[in-house]
Amino acid sequence: AGTTQLLLSRIRDVPDYPEPGVMFKDITPLLADPEAFAALTEALADLAVRHGATKIVGLEARGFILGAPVALRAGLGFIPVRKAGKLPGATLSQSYDLEYGSAEIEVHAEDLAADDRVLVVDDVLATGGTAEASLRLIRRAGAQVAGVAVLMELGFLGGRGKLETALEGAPLEAL
Ligand code: IMP
Repeated sequence: AGTTQLLLSRIRDVPDYPEPGVMFKDITPLLADPEAFAALTEALADLAVRHGATKIVGLEARGFILGAPVALRAGLGFIPVRKAGKLPGATLSQSYDLEYGSAEIEVHAEDLAADDRVLVVDDVLATGGTAEASLRLIRRAGAQVAGVAVLMELGFLGGRGKLETALEGAPLEAL
């Protein structure tokens, strides 16, 4: 409970960002506080160990900031899932629908093995589109899904429901 309070107190609500009517959850105050950043890293690393992960996938860009220290803390490798066109090697690509238009993410498939169990880490689960696409990438690379772990889930956007099929019974954890 103490950790939850600490984390909550370091998340800043920014109204009308990036567009009118949206309340943006800004985690930069949390990152700037070493005690809160360490507590978050610790909590996510505990989840990685508890769910038997062998690799951490971080989603660009805040999933990189959170996922990398989690991977080190848990003694696991880190794999970036990037927006299309940023990875230099052979990639698998997955496109997904946004409210207006679509987006595409990519991974270096050769960094995932058949016996890998992957935990996807990000700051915020909103509609779930990005996380769902990342789960498809992981499965298409031939690896297994250990789960999805986020700091915050915006429940009113229904992301948990959107992820249900792709999770195939693996857990979605929101701190
Ligand atoms: P989704 O695909 O709709 O679930 O959007 C999730 C992606 O958008 C994640 O990579 C988040 O980092 C980002 N995102 C959406 N809403 C917020 C927010 O309020 N704060 C921070 N990131 C957000």
